[in-house]
Amino acid sequence: MNYSVTILGATGSIGKSTLDVISLHPEKYSIFALTGCRQLKKLAHQSVQHNAKYAVVNDESSAEQLSVMINDLNGSTEVIFGADALSDVASNNQVDIVMAAIVGAAGLLPTLSALNAGKKVLLANKESLVMAGPIFMAAVKKHGATLLPIDSEHNAIFQCLPHNYSDANQSSIKKLILSASGGPFRGWSAEQIAAATPAQACAHPNWSMGNKISVDSASMMNKGLECIEARWLFDTSMDKIEVLIHPQSIIHSLVQYVDGSVLAQLGNPDMRTPIAHGLAWPERLSSGVADLYLSEIAQLSFEQPDLVKFPCLQLAYNAAEQAGDAPAVLNAANEIAVQAFLDGRVGFSAIAPIVEQTLESFDFYEPESLAAVQESDNRARVTAEFVIKQLEF
Ligand code: NAD
Ligand code: MG
Repeated sequence: MNYSVTILGATGSIGKSTLDVISLHPEKYSIFALTGCRQLKKLAHQSVQHNAKYAVVNDESSAEQLSVMINDLNGSTEVIFGADALSDVASNNQVDIVMAAIVGAAGLLPTLSALNAGKKVLLANKESLVMAGPIFMAAVKKHGATLLPIDSEHNAIFQCLPHNYSDANQSSIKKLILSASGGPFRGWSAEQIAAATPAQACAHPNWSMGNKISVDSASMMNKGLECIEARWLFDTSMDKIEVLIHPQSIIHSLVQYVDGSVLAQLGNPDMRTPIAHGLAWPERLSSGVADLYLSEIAQLSFEQPDLVKFPCLQLAYNAAEQAGDAPAVLNAANEIAVQAFLDGRVGFSAIAPIVEQTLESFDFYEPESLAAVQESDNRARVTAEFVIKQLEF
């Protein structure tokens, strides 16, 4: 069997790692569509190298430029553009597997289209699940889609859960324990963190990732988003989810059972492992990741997260407990705050207050539709921008 794959966000870090794994198994996977946003040259090369049927960008002018580049490379990939095109390549009936690796809320619609079409969806784009968890999980159920976690922690938990994990046997599980490296600022003083530059925030000690998730890892908002992600993926309550700082990033997460057993998944910190796991599930596939030699690593250490130095984690816990549209508001405000930090408009320590003040200005409610989620997302973005403008004066 040869599986046809669409990669949403092919030009990013996860997109590239996905293509790396697929390149090792040309007899098993072929590329239906690759999508990108700004890195047109890279998308042109990827499309030609992997013989993609379609390449998708957001607007007409990017599509024109991309077509010229693909022609110059003697490629035959057809270029299409716009939000409908993005959703079409995620739901097309020729597609078997969709890798959802667009960063942020922009991934919401195409990922949901894939679920509505009953696809096997490999979810890297955690923000979309944070925004619309109940809607996503209802779509999985209704359309018989398969949603497999690619985030390394959730992929680890998925591997440590029983295969017949269901409402019936959830009582055997005491805790889901999400590992966190602590990010580049673990051990820094509050003053050092406040003065951190975008380059320092993006220099993660263990993982090489896109800028947005790198900043989220530095603020620990990433772990907060992941707690909310875990809650929906594994249909559990926040009080069963715990965060454990583990600076070496070798244990990717753990499941604690009522009989005292704790199961963990280990591996080198390389996203090709969860990607290969998702692609091949329920089978296994070589990923190109180096073997793990624990004797060389010698020591694994663990500590509690510091919620005072990393207030974003507490904000995410609070939003998760509020539920309704609070996680969507948290996510949107954080996207705006992180971009403002990357653009040099605000300092690192402004991220948490921007998110907090945005959350404080909302009366949360349960969004019943995708349009309602998007409305909360839009309002949160406007509010966060307003908070930033006040900080700038
Ligand atoms: P990245 O910034 O490297 O790549 C993002 C991709 O999204 C690019 O292909 C870009 O073209 C596309 N994109 C950005 N804005 C877009 C828009 N408005 N419309 C359409 N496409 C757009 O990010 P990444 O590190 O690959 O992360 C992707 C997702 O995976 C994120 O949600 C992140 O949280 C998640 N994730 C990443 C890692 C990692 O190791 N990189 C690990 C776990 C989860
Ligand atoms: Mg993760």
